[in-house]
Amino acid sequence: MYLISACLCGVNCKYNGANNYNEICDKLFSSGKAILVCPEQLGGLPTPRIPSEIINYSKENSQKDITIINKNGDNVSKEFIKGAQEVLNIAKKLNIKKAILKEGSPSCGVNYIYDGNFSGTKIPGMGITAKILKEASIEVISEKDLGGNINGYI
Ligand code: SF4
Repeated sequence: MYLISACLCGVNCKYNGANNYNEICDKLFSSGKAILVCPEQLGGLPTPRIPSEIINYSKENSQKDITIINKNGDNVSKEFIKGAQEVLNIAKKLNIKKAILKEGSPSCGVNYIYDGNFSGTKIPGMGITAKILKEASIEVISEKDLGGNINGYI
């Protein structure tokens, strides 16, 4: 069983009320091989919502050191951490070993995130949910790591 970012399967949970549809992820879900989560919704944030970025990313930072603000300057770290912890609880209950998460998101990003200036600049890094899952020894990959090939996943 995989854990997948809900927006990758067409759920309109993205900050702007849209989704990030990915065919392979949706096939995994449709064939009963995945559960879907949206950590930002699970953390209590509304949809649509104001986009957010991690402003002090460092690989060494623990979850309590990471600060996430939305474009209006509000600190939303508490909601992001709560959502990440809810996702971890779900993953543990279902003994999930692998997650496929949406690249670039301050929650779900696996290989890169945005730099905290809302300028569209990418930096190497992980979103808070991806980081917490990885620290719990759950393998995390992004939809981009699937390489367009479903073989080996279904
Ligand atoms: Fe998708 Fe994750 Fe953002 Fe939710 S938090 S919309 S699942 S990228």
